[in-house]
Amino acid sequence: MKKIIQSILVLLVFTFIACQPDTDTDPQPKTVQKKEGYAEKPKNIILMVGDGMGLPQITAGMYMNKNKLNLERMAYIGLSKTHAADNLVTDSAAGATAFACGIKTYNGAIGVDVQKKPVKTILELAEDNGMKTGLVAACVIQHATPASFAAHVDSRHKYEEITESMLNTPVDIMIGGGQKHFDERVDKRNLLDSLRKSGYQVIDSTQKWQNMDFTSEKVAVFTASVQPKPFSQGRKYLKKAANRSIEFLNKENEKGFFLMIEGSQIDWGGHANNIDYVVSEMKEFDDIVGEVIDFVEKDKETLLIITADHETGGLAINPKSMMNQKIEPGWTTDYHTATMVPVFALGPGAKDFKGIYENTAIFDKMKKLYGF
Ligand SMILES: [Zn+2]
Repeated sequence: MKKIIQSILVLLVFTFIACQPDTDTDPQPKTVQKKEGYAEKPKNIILMVGDGMGLPQITAGMYMNKNKLNLERMAYIGLSKTHAADNLVTDSAAGATAFACGIKTYNGAIGVDVQKKPVKTILELAEDNGMKTGLVAACVIQHATPASFAAHVDSRHKYEEITESMLNTPVDIMIGGGQKHFDERVDKRNLLDSLRKSGYQVIDSTQKWQNMDFTSEKVAVFTASVQPKPFSQGRKYLKKAANRSIEFLNKENEKGFFLMIEGSQIDWGGHANNIDYVVSEMKEFDDIVGEVIDFVEKDKETLLIITADHETGGLAINPKSMMNQKIEPGWTTDYHTATMVPVFALGPGAKDFKGIYENTAIFDKMKKLYGF
């Protein structure tokens, strides 16, 4: 009798243990995700790219922001290997083409492989699946990162050809600089008219778009003829552009959307070895991260991924740096470096982004989560 009771007790203990939820390496985020009630799979994906935003740039922004960033609200963190097909140090074109198309290619390539053949991007796949898409950047819309999602050209410097190639990808909303590559072209063609003909509401850089209604299914907003100014010199549109693009894409949103938002000029501060420039762009980017996280936490069906294409400047935060007062920078180069960069994720499917992997895997994970 005693033996029977003992074995029943043992059985009960084992059943109890077996029913415990599995705690993977870091239980906290999973619990957070579960508690927040996110959908199983994402309906929408928002990819935010801090160009040149390595860990030192993030840290500098954090220490100059009372030791706090919205990035800390992200649930999962991974590391991405950024090397290009032809160089351990990538440029933004190969870097963006890697996570836009899932391929390693040569530096300077926009949406093409090492044979210069076009490769479909995650944005184009979303379009093919009836989804809405958007591109928002603090640089010309034809610049390496945004262009790699919507154009296929063998060189990042061929802005007029990139503009033409982008006309073949019906992005639903695009906000950025670079109007001149549409209407002040060497070939004298006015591609703003082509945009209008294909149903776009075109808002040019002389108009105050912030208070304008978006009245068409497709919208192209030009915030500058060429490059927008740095945040510290008065460029203030990126946050509003991010919020209004999300609002626009989420309106009557049946099939979901894909949106890429780039903090383009963190990189330019790195190239200039200018720590104030880096910190000011990083803080603006993180401020927008906060806005997008607020949306994701309310929406429950949107996956937010935040990463960089590479680190810029080989930045170190040296002795004599003081919290919230000054960063004493050390720079090893005025170009990019090959160090891995962080990948942050929140929302449905976010846990797939922990670990260490190639930058191309970001494309694979998005494609799998969308079910393409
Ligand atoms: Zn760069």
